[in-house]
Amino acid sequence: MTGSTLRSPAALAAAGLIAPGRADLLGSVADRYAVAVTPAIAALINPADLADPIGLQVLPQVAELAIQLTERADPIGDDAHSPVAGVVHRYPDRVLLKVTHACAIYCRFCFRRETVGPGGGTMSAEELDAAMGYVAAHPEIWEVILTGGDPLVLSPRRLANVADRLARIEHVKILRVHTRLPVADPDAVTDELIAALKSARQTVYVALHANHPRELTPAARAACARIIDAGVAMVSQTVLLKGVNDSAEVLETLMRAFVETRIKPYYLHHADLAPGTAHLRTTLEEGQALMRAIRGRLSGLCQPAYVLDIPGGHGKVPVGPTYLEEGGAFDPQGMRHAYPPVD
Ligand SMILES: *Cc1c(COP(=O)(O)O)cnc(C)c1O
Ligand code: SF4
Repeated sequence: MTGSTLRSPAALAAAGLIAPGRADLLGSVADRYAVAVTPAIAALINPADLADPIGLQVLPQVAELAIQLTERADPIGDDAHSPVAGVVHRYPDRVLLKVTHACAIYCRFCFRRETVGPGGGTMSAEELDAAMGYVAAHPEIWEVILTGGDPLVLSPRRLANVADRLARIEHVKILRVHTRLPVADPDAVTDELIAALKSARQTVYVALHANHPRELTPAARAACARIIDAGVAMVSQTVLLKGVNDSAEVLETLMRAFVETRIKPYYLHHADLAPGTAHLRTTLEEGQALMRAIRGRLSGLCQPAYVLDIPGGHGKVPVGPTYLEEGGAFDPQGMRHAYPPVD
């Protein structure tokens, strides 16, 4: 892949991804929320299509400046459960470690859009020491989830340092890494980077964030194959987004593409109430109807759980649809059957 990452409306205009006349207008959006489009992602965008599902995810829009009353800077309540800087401990058995605020690309719907960006930096040595101390002091922590930002933008050396230190904590059995890098910049998923993650003691999972089947290019699939062939398990996470993947056909193709790539679909996230993202959100009812549609059409291997992260830090919960009611169960076509059977 040639070229460099586009980091401003002017650069996007020069690359032909937005109309030159719009660069000025979008300056205030870019000042507020970081912009980055890698060559691999830019190559997927059809600039002639203003509703391009890849473009909608990464190209800034004026609509981002329209903040709704229900939206909040910390939509899933990370701050309510942060015992030390960079650590979020909301569930007893697992913690998030926000190792960096940087990402390879900046998603316009990001739930941490108020904190991610190239200027946000990475955890300092002191913060990392404090975080490791916290994890070591809490034997109930079974899993550590590296997030951010995108942890895989760290250098292999820094990543290896984090993974090695966690591997020395006896009670941490699982290391999970949430990333968009295999899609955003497949060539950056080098053997050295993968080796940095691998630990003889811990089981490693990589959760890939991808939202549209076009993101799973041959290069992205090859990057995932390198990760999996190294002995790392992969799961997926997708954000349900209006105009991007809010159709049964697109979700079906995406979930099949994950499974074909040896990635188990894990979560379909209802879009969080991040500031300036209303134009990309569906309703919960729309999400439930989509889940019902793919339940009837797709292998069980392809089924993600549709989850809502309750604002305020109350956690993720599956939000249906439900197939049960008193005395009956609904089949995927919506027909009710008595349960237990009455005849
Ligand atoms: C999402 C999240 C997790 C991980 O949740 P899983 O359901 O295990 O994927 C852990 N901690 C926090 C604070 C989270 O927001
Ligand atoms: S990669 Fe993740 S953390 Fe980074 S901008 Fe996208 S959604 Fe946010």
